[in-house]
Amino acid sequence: MKLILFDIDGTLLSCGPQVRPLFASALEEVFGTAGDVDGYDFAGRTDPRIVLDLVMGAGVAEADARAKLPRMRDLYLERLERSLDRHGMQLLPAVEELLGRLATRDDVVLALLTGNWERGARTKLSRFDLNRFFGFGAFGCDGIDRSDLPPVALERAERTVGRRFRPAETLIVGDSVHDVSCGRAHGIPVLAVATGLTRPEALRAAGADWLIHDLRDAGRAVGWLA
Ligand SMILES: [Mg+2]
Repeated sequence: MKLILFDIDGTLLSCGPQVRPLFASALEEVFGTAGDVDGYDFAGRTDPRIVLDLVMGAGVAEADARAKLPRMRDLYLERLERSLDRHGMQLLPAVEELLGRLATRDDVVLALLTGNWERGARTKLSRFDLNRFFGFGAFGCDGIDRSDLPPVALERAERTVGRRFRPAETLIVGDSVHDVSCGRAHGIPVLAVATGLTRPEALRAAGADWLIHDLRDAGRAVGWLA
């Protein structure tokens, strides 16, 4: 039995340029600054990590940043739900086909491992009706750094499925160097997909176990996915 932990942005779908301005406006409103939001690399980072980096980089004290984080989160998530437009988004190649096929197997459990706050993750997935594939996961609400998340996902898998998954029975699928390093930190193999903003060479250098162009190649890379 295998547990597969999917990242969202750049792996299952892409939101295009519409999320960053929503994030920025919520930061502005709560902290009076969005810091270097246009220069910041969001890829693979948790939502709370992004907030803390941006506002502390702009001089906000850590205690203040943490205290106001929930208000920023709620504001951003409301706006995301209201305005995230499917037409500006992209469902990445073979996602629906792969998830549909894996969902029918009784030797595979599907879950999420994403830096999005859960409500934001659900909003993004809802635009392509993908929430039906994921009953649980680990999210940006479960840790500040992505490497905090795999143990949470394994814990929830155990509670949901009634079975403990060893790292070697788990697979992380993601598009950033942080997906790769959070897997490596916990001995979990990583299938890296080059459908996000991270260059393939960087994913390979980070130590991805497999590297594919997009999810059409998933079964060719990892035999048991076919
Ligand atoms: Mg990603």
